[in-house]
Amino acid sequence: MKSSWLSVLVVKSIINNATKAQRHQDTQRLINSQMERFKPYKTSIWAFTITACILSIVQWKVEKPMILIERFIPYSGWVMIWILAFYAAFLLSKMKDPSQSAKWRKYSWTFFSIVFFGQLILGVSGYEKFLMQADKLHLPLPALIIGGPIYRGHISFMPILFISTVILAGPAWCSHLCYFGAIDNLVASTGKPVRKGIKLLWPLKHTFLFLVIVSALLFRFYNIPVSLVTALAALFGIAGLLIILTISKNVNKMFHCVVYCPVGTLISYIKYINPFRLYIDNNCTECNACTKTCYYDALNTEHIKARKPGQSCTLCGDCITSCHVFSIKYKFPGLNPKQARNLWLIITISIHAVFLGLARL
Ligand code: SF4
Ligand code: SF4
Ligand code: SF4
Repeated sequence: MKSSWLSVLVVKSIINNATKAQRHQDTQRLINSQMERFKPYKTSIWAFTITACILSIVQWKVEKPMILIERFIPYSGWVMIWILAFYAAFLLSKMKDPSQSAKWRKYSWTFFSIVFFGQLILGVSGYEKFLMQADKLHLPLPALIIGGPIYRGHISFMPILFISTVILAGPAWCSHLCYFGAIDNLVASTGKPVRKGIKLLWPLKHTFLFLVIVSALLFRFYNIPVSLVTALAALFGIAGLLIILTISKNVNKMFHCVVYCPVGTLISYIKYINPFRLYIDNNCTECNACTKTCYYDALNTEHIKARKPGQSCTLCGDCITSCHVFSIKYKFPGLNPKQARNLWLIITISIHAVFLGLARL
């Protein structure tokens, strides 16, 4: 009798354990299937989270409202954080597809520039809430990131912001984050870039960089008044706009960014502090098809032969899908090319979305 009870108990416990194991397996399967469903959105979720976290810290910690809308409607900054985080996730989902990347880069960068200049126009028209510090208004010229601190003799917020982006995303400033470069990109991309490389590219680039540094030093040394320096800087900016509307438009390359802007030249050197790179693998057939997609003069015949883009490459990614053998790839230590590209996009798009929400100038 006793032994039959024992066998019943053993059978029961076996059945219980089997049911538990089955339940555990079912739960695991359910979790895995849910994870699979979210896999395509993984990069978007990252961009969403990073954007939301950075903006939340700014909203929470910085006393003066930095998220623009907060200055008009109290607590609306939190709503804007959600909108911008969704924007980052959406943009990433579009740009992750290499065939959509160039189109969405152009759209989003142009939008960024419109928001920036829109804020600036409203700010200088008397709506000071649109400006970061109305009393410290400066010309919206990238060259001042270099010239400004040399002339003033101290470093300001803008160069720190600039260097931070170079540390995090290399040359992304010149492909997604600069309000001025978006105009050059828009104008240059109205046609296909000429295949021939820009003549005397590096001597010209160095000359403009040298001119800006030496001028700022001389202005400082001879105590040239701010009003005169501002007027000269404005002339430099107008000349830049003319270069965009004439040369960039004709050669369909971003001549202003690649040749004239000293920040572009500086970036082409300091970008190497960041580990992201682009390379061309040995499957390349040297067909030169990709040369027609680079507005930064970084994919000419000699670059293709050398199997790496020119120094003016900004990692924009416009060229990726032009290659029929998929030879153009991103590189980051420890990651495969796809993961490296996705990581670069997550970082760059998150910074882009964060900048979009903040008051400027
Ligand atoms: S090169 Fe100058 S103008 Fe062009 S995107 Fe870079 S910083 Fe902006
Ligand atoms: S080589 Fe490719 S990634 Fe680099 S700037 Fe040119 S188009 Fe952009
Ligand atoms: S399109 Fe591809 S195969 Fe052709 S030159 Fe460019 S990298 Fe090489």
